[in-house]
Amino acid sequence: MAFSLASLFGLKTHDTTPKTLVVLKHRCPQNHRCPAVSACPVGALSQKGQKAPTVDRERCINCGKCTRYCFPKALVMEKA
Ligand code: SF4
Repeated sequence: MAFSLASLFGLKTHDTTPKTLVVLKHRCPQNHRCPAVSACPVGALSQKGQKAPTVDRERCINCGKCTRYCFPKALVMEKA
């Protein structure tokens, strides 16, 4: 039985599970220029017209910065 002292006392611990950026197209209204595209530090996001952005998996370092620029929460970090 594995448990930590923190969980024994009901304390929250920092989740270190690796996460990957996911684009949830159904949440994107696809009616504007995506502000997250220019926020990406490695140029991993691109957008055609006003469609939902796409991720270049070769470039993305899964830093999560872009998620802070997407107000409809179409860009989310999910456990890999
Ligand atoms: S998670 Fe980071 S590297 Fe990946 S697309 Fe978003 S801002 Fe760019």
